[in-house]
Amino acid sequence: MKEFLADERQAYTQAPRGPRRAERRDPASRLVVLTCRDPNPGKAANEGNSGGLVAALAPVMERRSGIWISGRPGIQTEDPGAPGGGAASNGHARPAYQSVAVRYPANLQEGFYTRLSNGTLWPLYHSMLHQAGACCSSDWRDYRRVNQYFAAVAAEQCAPGSFVWVHDYQLSLVPRLLREIAPGSFDIGFFLHTPFPSYDVFRTLPWAKDILEGMLAADLIGFHTEHYGRNFCESASRMLGAEWDPTRSVLHLDGRTIRVRAIPVGIDTQLVHRLQQDPQVRQRAARLKQQMGGEQLLLGVDRLDYTKGIDRRLEAMDLLLSRHPELRGRVVFAQIAVPSRVEIDSYRQLRVRMEQLAGSVNGRWAQPHWNPVKLFCRSFPLKELVAWYLAADVAVVTPYRDGMNLVAKEYCAAHRDRPGVLVLSELAGAAEELDDALLVNPYDLEGMAETMHRALSVSDGEASARMRRMNHRILRGDAHSWVKSFLDEARCLQPG
Ligand code: UDP
Repeated sequence: MKEFLADERQAYTQAPRGPRRAERRDPASRLVVLTCRDPNPGKAANEGNSGGLVAALAPVMERRSGIWISGRPGIQTEDPGAPGGGAASNGHARPAYQSVAVRYPANLQEGFYTRLSNGTLWPLYHSMLHQAGACCSSDWRDYRRVNQYFAAVAAEQCAPGSFVWVHDYQLSLVPRLLREIAPGSFDIGFFLHTPFPSYDVFRTLPWAKDILEGMLAADLIGFHTEHYGRNFCESASRMLGAEWDPTRSVLHLDGRTIRVRAIPVGIDTQLVHRLQQDPQVRQRAARLKQQMGGEQLLLGVDRLDYTKGIDRRLEAMDLLLSRHPELRGRVVFAQIAVPSRVEIDSYRQLRVRMEQLAGSVNGRWAQPHWNPVKLFCRSFPLKELVAWYLAADVAVVTPYRDGMNLVAKEYCAAHRDRPGVLVLSELAGAAEELDDALLVNPYDLEGMAETMHRALSVSDGEASARMRRMNHRILRGDAHSWVKSFLDEARCLQPG
C-alpha cells in the first residue's frame, strides 16, 4: 500500500459512514476492502499518492456494494451530503460505497504501527535486518489487538457471501481472526504490497508462524512477483508443514487449499497519460529543465526510506562526476525525497544524512552557476510530479529492495511518446516487468555510476524503443487490470 503521511491516533469505537446496514444492496456479491490507513484522505486523485489503487477499485466497489474499512475515520467527501459518503478519485463521478473507520485505543498505535509494523516487519520484509528494532512482545500484543479490532469490524460489516480483501503486512492476522469470529461465511483474499523475504530471513521473526497462520486463513494470497510467492510457500511448508504444489501454485493445509498468485500492481496509466499531454504540465516540464540548469537531468523520486537506496545513488553521482570530468557543469541530479514515518528516529536521521551527502557532493563539485545535486525534501502532487518526469532525461530508481516501485512505471508512462531512460534496481519488483530498463545492482556503486553514465548517452532511437516496449507492458498491467486479475482469481474460489 502507498504510505500516507497524516498522523492517525483514533479514539475507541467504530463509526460507520455512508448507508447503514439495512440500506445495503446485493450483499451476496459485496466486496469488503481492508487497509491499515485511509488510502486517500480527502484528496483528489491527482493530488494524492494512492498510485491508482483507489481509482481502480472505486468502480468495482460501487458495482459490488463495496465497503472500505480502514484505520482512519473514512474517506472525506467534498460534499458532505453525497449519498453513501463515498470517495472521489481520478476525476470520475464520485462513487457510492461505504467507508468504515476502525477506531482503536490511541495507546496501541505506537506498538502496532510504529514499532511492530514499521520498525520490525518493514525491514524484515525488505531483507534489511540491520535496520530492525528489537522485537518486543508488548509490541506484538498491540499488533494483535489492532488486528482484532479490524477483524471485529469486518465481521460486523460483512454479509455472508461477501469477498473480503485484506491488504498488507499491518493486517496479516486479520484473515485468521475473521475466520475465528465468523467461520466459513465468506471468502478472503490477502495481498502483500511489500516483498516477502526468503525463509532464512523470515524465520528470524519470533512471531513468524503466527503471521503465516494469519495469512494462510485467506483463500487467495497475492504477491507482486512469483519470487515473493515462492518465498512465502517455502516458509509455509518448512515452518507449518503446509504441502506446497508449485505447479498449481497452491498450498494445502489442514484440509484447505490456498491459492498463491503473482499479480503485479500497476499504475493509473490513463491519469498519467492525461497529465503528460496537458500543455500546462509540458510547459512546467520545460521550465523545470531550464531551472535545474544542466544540459541533462537525472531524477530520483522516493519516500525518504532506507530501503530506497538514496544514499548509494548520491554516492554514485559523486563517483560519476569524479570519473567523468566532462559531465561537470553539464548534468544535474534532482532528488525528490518525501519525508515519511517521521515519528521513527532512524527515519529522521536518514533525512539529516541525505542532506549531508547532497551537501558534500555539491561542496566537492559545485561551480559558480552549477550545483550537481538538488535535494527536495517534500512531496509534490502528481501533476507536478509528471512535469518532473517529463523534464528528466534519466530516472534513477535504485532501491535496495522494493515490493514493486510505482515511480518507475509512472516515469515510463510519462515517456510513452518521447525518449527517456530508466535506470532500475534489479531488486525492485518492477524489474520483472521492466526488463528493458538499464538494470543495476543497487549495492554496486561502481556499476551504478557507469550505468548512469551509459544512460546519459543512450541514443534517442534506443531510448524510445525501450520505452515503447516497457509501456506496452505497463498498459497491459495497469491498476484496473490488477484489481480485475485479483478479483477474477477470487471468483474461481466460489463454487459454480
Ligand atoms: N508520489 C507523490 N508525490 C511525491 C512523490 C511520490 O504523489 O512527491 C507518489 C508517486 O506518484 C507514487 C508513490 O508516491 O505513486 C510512490 O510509490 P512507490 O511504489 O514508488 O513507493 P512507496 O512509497 O509505495 O514505497
